Amino acid sequence: MSSIENRLNGIKKNILLSSYTTLGIGGQAKYFFVAKDTESIIKAVQVAKEYKLDFFILGGGSNLLISDKGFDGLVIKTENRRIEQNKLEILAGAGVLLSQLVRLSERAELTGLEWAAGIPGTVGGAIRGNSGAFGRSISTVIQEIKVLELDSEIIIRKYLRDQCLFDYRDSIFKQNKNLVILEARLTLEKGNREEIKKRIERNLNYRKEKQPIGLRSAGSIFKNPEGFSAGKLIEMCNLKGAKKGGAEISKKHGNFIVNLGDASSEDVLYLINLAKEKVKQKFNIVLKEEIEYLGF
Ligand SMILES: Cc1cc2nc3c(=O)[nH]c(=O)nc-3n(C[C@H](O)[C@H](O)[C@H](O)COP(=O)(O)OP(=O)(O)OC[C@H]3O[C@@H](n4cnc5c(N)ncnc54)[C@H](O)[C@@H]3O)c2cc1C
Repeated sequence: MSSIENRLNGIKKNILLSSYTTLGIGGQAKYFFVAKDTESIIKAVQVAKEYKLDFFILGGGSNLLISDKGFDGLVIKTENRRIEQNKLEILAGAGVLLSQLVRLSERAELTGLEWAAGIPGTVGGAIRGNSGAFGRSISTVIQEIKVLELDSEIIIRKYLRDQCLFDYRDSIFKQNKNLVILEARLTLEKGNREEIKKRIERNLNYRKEKQPIGLRSAGSIFKNPEGFSAGKLIEMCNLKGAKKGGAEISKKHGNFIVNLGDASSEDVLYLINLAKEKVKQKFNIVLKEEIEYLGF
């Protein structure tokens, strides 16, 4: 077999993942590849399969805790950022940033994505976790998704919205690791530019006021248990400001853990477990992670 470097042009070895996560935490990936277009994602998955390597799809790294031990496989970073708009529809590569999407929809006077302003991830990551805010989520604007299915062979097929099994921070893509989101077709509604702009500004101001913007975090650590706010439950356990090494449960928002500079993955994990334990003790509620783990 030819070397993996010959098979996948641009693949790198032993790359530190901390630069690719918003928390600024993560050890080395044995192999790391940036896919600039959809075909390159498919090729990279094919190569991982040929070389019997575990692979991990990395978007904006904004909902992730990666172990300091790193990942002994191939990280495929999605940067297929082609984005096209036609009337009410937008076609976006999985690596398109939500900020790109929000900007384009505002420019095109399309409404339905204002809630996504200020979320630092990609379209692929957002679809997998059905990201949302202010009572909306990405599922509401999805028309269809181009998906790579990895089974005994690789198949590319389209999933209509109803086939995606969207739920609160959940989708079929989260349940099945062998599905890779390649591209998405979204349908928005015609809106008024000034109103769209105002809604975006209002949402961004709300984030500035309530969340530790400017500090390194992975967004909300936990999903909100039905009828409760995870942040409030953690706050009521007096855990805001709790520290371990360089990690801190944000003083501003109980559901955010921030990296004050030199936090290790174990520091963050300690605080996650502490919050779970205290909330279980005090309220008999089990907190479940919204973030994903890699390398633990
Ligand atoms: C300050 C801040 C605020 C945030 N606010 C919100 C919020 O209001 N609402 C919200 O829902 N989230 C929020 N988040 C979390 C996060 O930004 C979103 O969940 C985002 O959509 C994750 O996308 P990502 O590209 O960064 O995913 P990553 O963190 O890179 O990956 C997350 C998971 O998705 C998988 N994945 C990524 N791309 C693909 C793909 N193409 N195909 C298959 N799987 C894929 C990864 O393998 C991983 O398991 C916030 C985060 C931060 C730091």
